[in-house]
Amino acid sequence: MSRPDEPPLRAIVSFHRDEEGHWFARLECGHHQHTRHDPPWVERPWVEHAGGRRQMIGYRLACKKCADDAPPDPAPPDTGDAR
Ligand SMILES: [Zn+2]
Repeated sequence: MSRPDEPPLRAIVSFHRDEEGHWFARLECGHHQHTRHDPPWVERPWVEHAGGRRQMIGYRLACKKCADDAPPDPAPPDTGDAR
């Protein structure tokens, strides 16, 4: 059983960009999570490339929003480029 202080892992279903151009992942639970590449603090060079994003589809991220019982985020207007 999962501990309440550990966010559940949710698989990435698609990637999208917000209005500022930052990448975020849409998770299977309907929540969004930013996956920005912001060196030197956050190194996610894969997010800048379509191939890299495609490889991350299905990768599971800890979803804090699920842990907080937050409502799902609104579906992005586009369908994502990595489906
Ligand atoms: Zn979630």
